[in-house]
Amino acid sequence: MSTVKIYLKKGKEKKIKHFYPWVFRDEILKVEGEGIIATLLDYKGNFLAKGTYSSHSRIAFRVLTYREEDINTNFFIERLKKSLLLREGIASNAFRAVFSESDLLSGLIVDKYDQGLVIQVRSYPMEVLKEIYLPALVEVFKPRFIYERSDFKGRLAEGLKEFKGLLYGELKNPVLIEENGIKFLVDVEKGLKTGFYLDQRDNRLYIAESVERGQKVLDLFTHTGGFAVYAAKKGAKVWAVDINADVLEIARENAKLNGVEVEFIAANAFEFLENTDQSYDLIIADPPAIAKTKKEKESILWAVWKLAYKAFKKLNPLGRLFICTCTYQISAEELTRQVRLAASDAGKRIFVRSLRGQPKDHPYVPFFPESWYLKCLDVQLYPF
Ligand code: SAH
Repeated sequence: MSTVKIYLKKGKEKKIKHFYPWVFRDEILKVEGEGIIATLLDYKGNFLAKGTYSSHSRIAFRVLTYREEDINTNFFIERLKKSLLLREGIASNAFRAVFSESDLLSGLIVDKYDQGLVIQVRSYPMEVLKEIYLPALVEVFKPRFIYERSDFKGRLAEGLKEFKGLLYGELKNPVLIEENGIKFLVDVEKGLKTGFYLDQRDNRLYIAESVERGQKVLDLFTHTGGFAVYAAKKGAKVWAVDINADVLEIARENAKLNGVEVEFIAANAFEFLENTDQSYDLIIADPPAIAKTKKEKESILWAVWKLAYKAFKKLNPLGRLFICTCTYQISAEELTRQVRLAASDAGKRIFVRSLRGQPKDHPYVPFFPESWYLKCLDVQLYPF
């Protein structure tokens, strides 16, 4: 594969030396040659990094390595093995094996579900490099299947069409996984994202550890029953709501698989909260959130306030609200502010039991602030 040389404008080398992994088009001084694999140099021609180049993308260069090494199947084999080292000790046979920039493989997501892999390709270069890294995935994971779930709109900005399909091996869908001793069926073909919200694993365990037998728990935006099944396993009485009746079918099977009872309700979470005549000891709210524009961000902040306000009105004394946002555009401070405003508007005094993030298979890299996207706030009502 031919290599491109990219010279950065004077001063722009600093961000790369500070381990920020992206170069924008207007930071480039000149480009020599053509290709997908690029060597990044400062304005004097000193080596900075190797990575991928896409001439038409806003993010022109993405770092793959800070060393002068060849980018080939062997490079991917070594990188995948090292990324796996970071995932040792996870109490599940399902985890994110590659998380894009956090594993210095910008544009590639690899989720491992038992013996199979589900990948998502988010950049043009990673689409072209498939022929190099697919053999590496086969070599390192020896998977039964590799299925691609690149069916999301963001691909258009990279000049790629939406795609999903089997790339390798044989898929028996749904896939059974086991996380912290709890079984889940994952529909990798039709489920949301790659089929399961792996990023809430530690938070589901945290909830299970803090829920007491007999407590009333409401899991809003339950998807395939993640938090609900954990809480029910601990002996809580659980109601779980999702607007999508299809995901609730799998959620019901998941409850059965674990020998627990959960009352699943197909409804809009906001309307359910408004109309329920129950009150709860714990309300979990894990809404979907994508904010690309300022307006979308405002509407998520408003939704967080609304959810929290309605939830506070339905909490028992000493009750808790566990509320999450999953987009990096909303900071932990902003989430906390919305919850604080909702509590005071509802006339409730609260304290923060815990502010939580994402698990180690979705590494938050401080050099790349965009990588901290999941924030969950656990707040409790004061008894005085
Ligand atoms: N907590 C879940 C993941 C939540 S994903 C887990 O641990 O697996 C977000 C879910 O919210 C999706 O299943 C989606 O169908 C649902 N959803 C989106 N809008 C909704 C709404 N207005 N009311 C209820 N559910 C909604």
